[in-house]
This record gives sequence, C-alpha cells and structure tokens, in this order.
Amino acid sequence: MWDADGNEYIDYIQGMGPNLFGHAPEFVSQQVAEDMRNGYIFAAQFERELEVAEMAAAAIPIEDCTVRFAGSGTEIVQLVLRLARGWTGKSKFIRFEGHYHGWMDSVNHSVHPPIDEAGDVDAPTPVGESAGMDPGAAAQAIPCQWNDIDRLEDAFERHRGEVAAVIMEPINANTNCIMPEPGYLEAAKELAHEHGALIIFDEVITGFRVAYGGAQEFLGITPDLATYAKSIAAGFPIAMLAGRRDIMDMLGSGEVYHGGSFNSNVMSIAAAHATLTHIKLQGDTFYADLNRRGERLIDGLHQVGMETETEIHVQVLGSVFGISFNRSGDVIRNYRDHATKCDDVRYAQFASEMMREGVRLSSNGRVHMSSAHTEEQIETTIEAARRALSRM
Ligand code: PLP
Repeated sequence: MWDADGNEYIDYIQGMGPNLFGHAPEFVSQQVAEDMRNGYIFAAQFERELEVAEMAAAAIPIEDCTVRFAGSGTEIVQLVLRLARGWTGKSKFIRFEGHYHGWMDSVNHSVHPPIDEAGDVDAPTPVGESAGMDPGAAAQAIPCQWNDIDRLEDAFERHRGEVAAVIMEPINANTNCIMPEPGYLEAAKELAHEHGALIIFDEVITGFRVAYGGAQEFLGITPDLATYAKSIAAGFPIAMLAGRRDIMDMLGSGEVYHGGSFNSNVMSIAAAHATLTHIKLQGDTFYADLNRRGERLIDGLHQVGMETETEIHVQVLGSVFGISFNRSGDVIRNYRDHATKCDDVRYAQFASEMMREGVRLSSNGRVHMSSAHTEEQIETTIEAARRALSRM
C-alpha cells in the first residue's frame, strides 16, 4: 500500500480480512468487469449466483447444506439469529465475551468490555460497545465465558427452556485468534442440543481463510448454522448463511423473512465465483502456501522476541493470527484472560513502531496473511520487528 504522501507499507490488515489474495487481484477484477456488462442487480436469481451457491454449499462441511446470500457480516448474523428463533420458538441466545458479531444493537455488547463493568465472571452483564445503542436490545443476550464448558452449562441452567442458540467464533479471531481447547466445541454442541438450542459458528473471519471449508474443516466439527463474509469474495461486499436444509427451508418458504435490495449483486457474486474457482484450481496447495508464509512470519516474530527479550506472543495459525504481549506467560483461554494478562498498550506501541518501519498492522493485533505476501516481504517484516522491539 502507498499512503497519500507516497510512503510504502507492507499491509497485514488486508481490509480486516477479506483480501485473501492481496489488493485488487487481476483475476477477480477481470471476472467482475466481465459479468457486470450484463447488469448489476436484478431482484431475481441468476445463473452465476446458482453456480456460486452450489460451489459454496459443496465447500461447507455441514451435511446437506444450503446457502443464502446477504450484503455484510453484520446483516447475516441478524438473519441467523432470527432463523434460530423461528426454528426453536425461543428468544434468548448465548454469546461469548470477546467475540464480535457485527455492529447491530442486539450483538454489539460484551465484545471488549472493561472488566470492572462486565459483572461477575459466572453471570456477566451485557456491556454496550457504543453510545446510542438501544438499551433494550441486549435483553435477549446471555454473555458467557468461552472455552469453559461448566460456565456454559450454568448459563443453560439459569435460562432453562429460553435459549434458541449459542453463537460463537469457532476460533476467537476477534480476541487475538484464541483457539478452542480440545473437545470444547464438541461439548458445547452437545450441550446446546440437549437443551433444544442450535449451535451457530460465526465464520465471517475463518470462512474460506483457515481452510476451504473454514474452521469447520480445520477443526473437524460442524454446527447447525454458520455465517460467512469477508474472504468469500476477495474484498467485495457479500455475506452468506449456510446451514442444515431442514432449518434453512424456513427461509425458502418465507416463514422466516429475509430481504435486501443488494443481496447477490452481480459484482459480489462474480468476485465470489473468481475466488472459489481460483482456490479450487490450486487445490490443497493454496492453503498450504498461505499457512507456510504465515508460519514463517510467526517463527520470525518469536525469534526476534527471544533475541530482544520481549514477551511477544503469537498464536500458531498461519493464515490469520494474533500478536499480543502476554506478561504472565499463562495460556490465554478467553477474553477475560486476555484483558487481564496481555498488555494492549504495549501492542499499540509495537504497531506504531512497525508503521514507522513500513509495516501496517491492525489495532487489535490480528494479522491477515494473503497469497500476495512474498517471502521477501515476510523477511522484511521480521527485520522491521527486530528494530521495532529493540527500540521498545
Ligand atoms: N462476525 C465476525 C466474526 C466478524 O469478525 C465481523 C467483522 O469483522 C462481523 C461478524 C461483521 O461483519 P461486517 O463487518 O461485514 O458487517
């Protein structure tokens, strides 16, 4: 990237994730330009849309899965919650501190709450992330601690018979890419089903990024419903809901309503088609290459961390990972661990020093690898980190 003053940066924000192939990949631009010659938007299904729907449904591990498109991750989360309520006839949902599900009032709380306002760890209170939110909107939300099956069980007990769904990021990308502990997702799914609730994976970040079949393929577990956006269309605005056909049929029948003038517009569908076709053509090598690049960067950062005796900590997933400064040396299992043990001020200083070195890092520590990052750029980044950490 080049800024308005002509300074050059190696970009690891990548539009907060969508740019799986870097900025403006030619094969995407070409497909979009070609398809948009026939019109932009029809308020009807069209051939390319069906092709993308079939390709995407085949990619998602949920058995007998169907899909539906919308305009953004925020929108698709609203739809999935409505569908879960429609299916179960219940209204509440369990969500986790540190997990982000878009900016709408119903879910934009408890993402990064100040600990002293978030209430008892056993029964947290929703804390709005913004001024101006509808004070009643969080009434259906039950915040909980992630990676902690006992607390999830507790939440179900406290709200017996009221919970429509548990929604979570299967890899907590919005709090430094914390991984689920072995067995946690399986236990959470079982518990949800025991209580007649659905399990929803929000794969807006992980979908088509950590594997072609997203976190489900990477971790080997399927939810009932899953949401996608970002990497499915290389930077064009689109989102997708995927789920069990029996549940999704409530949308097809119109029993659960979903609308949107810009859903499935030609440009976003063309970009999604180019994305999925490109990855499919490369087969397994696409993700292996992406991960290899990310792993080299992670190794390099750990190495310069040791050399400069800083407590820099990097999660170990190549395609998307989090950088933090963990003072305690303890394993970070969820948001409250992160908030109490990681030094966000120190990370902000690191990101600012890296910017001076020509490396653009996000403010929340999440690094998005793209297939356009070259090995040379990765080595340059590691050298930049060595200088930045030495100055700190
Ligand atoms: N869900 C997750 C996991 C996200 O990370 C985001 C955005 O970062 C969203 C939902 C909202 O998506 P959008 O920004 O497209 O509205």
